[in-house]
Amino acid sequence: MDGDKNVEIKEMYESEEYDGNEDQATEKLLDRRKFVKGGAAVVATAVVAGGLAACSNGGGDTPAGGSGGAADGTPAADGTYTASAQGRNGQVVTQTTISGGAITKVEVIEHQETDVFGGVAVDPLCQNIVAANSYGIDAIAGATWTSAAIKDGVAAAIAEAGGSADLYNKPTVYENVQDETIDADIAVIGAGFSGLISACVAAESGAKVVLIDKAGIGGCSLQSFGAAIYDSPELIEARLNEWLAGQMYIADPALIYAYLSNNMDAISWVRQFKDTTDFFPFFGEEGFFRGLLCAYTDRPKVYQEMFDKTVLANGGSVHIQTTATELLTDGAGTVTGVVAKRLDGSTLTINAKAVNIATGGFGGNAGLIKELTGYDVVCGSLTQCIGEGEDMAYAVGAPVPKNKGGLQLHQTLATSTAKLSGYEYFQQQMPMVMGYVPSVLNVDGAGKRFRNEDWVNNPTAAATGGAFVGGVTYVLLDQNFIQKLESGGTAAIGYTESPGMPPEYKPDYQPDTPWADFSKVLGDLVPNDWAYTGASIEEVANAAGMDPAVLQATIDTYNGYCAAGKDAIFNKDPQHLVAYDGSGPYYLISITYNHLGTIGGIATNEDFQVLDENKKAIPGLYSTGAEAYGTAWNRNYNGQGDGIGFAMVSGYVAGGILARYAGK
Ligand SMILES: Cc1cc2nc3c(=O)[nH]c(=O)nc-3n(C[C@H](O)[C@H](O)[C@H](O)COP(=O)(O)OP(=O)(O)OC[C@H]3O[C@@H](n4cnc5c(N)ncnc54)[C@H](O)[C@@H]3O)c2cc1C
Repeated sequence: MDGDKNVEIKEMYESEEYDGNEDQATEKLLDRRKFVKGGAAVVATAVVAGGLAACSNGGGDTPAGGSGGAADGTPAADGTYTASAQGRNGQVVTQTTISGGAITKVEVIEHQETDVFGGVAVDPLCQNIVAANSYGIDAIAGATWTSAAIKDGVAAAIAEAGGSADLYNKPTVYENVQDETIDADIAVIGAGFSGLISACVAAESGAKVVLIDKAGIGGCSLQSFGAAIYDSPELIEARLNEWLAGQMYIADPALIYAYLSNNMDAISWVRQFKDTTDFFPFFGEEGFFRGLLCAYTDRPKVYQEMFDKTVLANGGSVHIQTTATELLTDGAGTVTGVVAKRLDGSTLTINAKAVNIATGGFGGNAGLIKELTGYDVVCGSLTQCIGEGEDMAYAVGAPVPKNKGGLQLHQTLATSTAKLSGYEYFQQQMPMVMGYVPSVLNVDGAGKRFRNEDWVNNPTAAATGGAFVGGVTYVLLDQNFIQKLESGGTAAIGYTESPGMPPEYKPDYQPDTPWADFSKVLGDLVPNDWAYTGASIEEVANAAGMDPAVLQATIDTYNGYCAAGKDAIFNKDPQHLVAYDGSGPYYLISITYNHLGTIGGIATNEDFQVLDENKKAIPGLYSTGAEAYGTAWNRNYNGQGDGIGFAMVSGYVAGGILARYAGK
């Protein structure tokens, strides 16, 4: 390691903390990024309850809100009530205080929501419920599941207190609602990494920019881990070739090159705003090209600084909880602005010389994903990104691209992840850890082995393969495996490494940490179909809906490879070939997969101009980030760190181009 690029990691390596362990050095860097409460600026406008429902600005898959008690006008009895409801990552426990028949305090006393994501809903929503004396008010946009869990908790409290639902379940009403029109040089739709950076770069050149977002600032970047780094011509050339081959050459080399070759400039630009020293510290060996984003907790501060010094300083503004609905065009087809709806129901019209659509794709639109890909996978992305940006582009002449339909398939989860309660974190995560351990058999829904289990630690390969065979796969265990894990941890079944789990899910344990209570955990998975069990292979196969003969044949073949010390089909590492020679009860743990967003929608050229069906640029219309990934990735996301990287670089490059287009 040498040069500026490795300064931070070098410091880490040279510090007394570094003990020669790469994994632990990375962990320590991650430790600096602990979450705190209240990151992004997602706070609802003040509300009063009663009357007609106002515009709801939530995501596409809003879960059902709470239903309260009787509907006979009875006030709830005074007291403090505790209730629990399912949020995005687990149970959200609320404590509601009723005093004088009114909701006087709502507190979330326990939750597992990501603080910079669902967690941002907690304080504002609790305050809004008290202010409105109602749990029927609007959810906090971008935190739909967490909001629903809090509202459900309060509804349960009201029901327990004998309160009437019609008294406490009144929708939001906004006062002094007024439409507004703003004239600007540039309008940017979506304030994720891509939209925010494009707005700031354009403003830096003197453009007046108006930025809108249906939720808050930061989008997926508030949850992302690292970005790809391309810091030499050799690396750029190698990556371009590898990228194109990975996409079967059905991708735009000029666009990919624009991304790769502007990568370092974009990073330098972003780093000037850091008020911490760790924005994009580079880590790893020479040639290992990934950089961490700065601490999760610092990102809102960095974004604020970025925004203040550029957009705000040049007369621009940002409008959160404001959803773009339609592009404006003149008679000749040039895009001239955008119309948006605000949370209070009013209309915001922005007249602009150019518009950038940076709405993040359609990861929150499960129906469209199923229709396009056939995959039933978990959405690990923003539920409010439902494809509105691309629909607006199609309405002004952009064609639906043929390659639309890709997913950033990324994480392996247990079906029980974030659902199993009543255990310490390590026990809770044991089923998920099994999804990352290569020394167990992985089978599909038919009971067939479908991959080299060594691939489980490559997130993209694991999730893409798992989604392809149906979205739910299984890990097989017999009593030998279970007992070995209980007594000697994963080391006892031939796996001595630290699994490549997403940091936000990874429990703190060592390979030789005994898996206490694993049998009990497994037993508790069964009633919810998070695992299947049976005294024999036949029974466990039947329980999981597999043909017992197929599962038995899979095991026999695999045991043959274990005996020979050679995996004749996938060539798995012999150390990870452990035979199934134990007795029952057997378990098949259900494993599922998630995506971190979509990779397709709007086709652009390398200047991020949106193309029409003749591949000509639509005047005044640009698109960056995940909404425009389609021309770079044909169908499968094959780049770790390129999601956030592309969002950053496309925003950076397009920002300059937008400003020039607007005459700045
Ligand atoms: C949990 C998670 C972890 C990730 N980790 C990584 C990682 O480590 N490395 C990596 O490379 N990539 C990662 N990614 C992917 C990466 O974060 C995204 O590809 C990238 O941030 C997309 O940026 P964007 O600006 O294009 O879109 P987004 O960040 O999705 O932002 C789009 C914004 O548009 C807004 N919006 C949507 N519709 C409208 C509308 N109609 N009107 C107004 N606003 C609208 C949304 O509210 C949102 O704020 C991760 C993604 C997730 C979900």
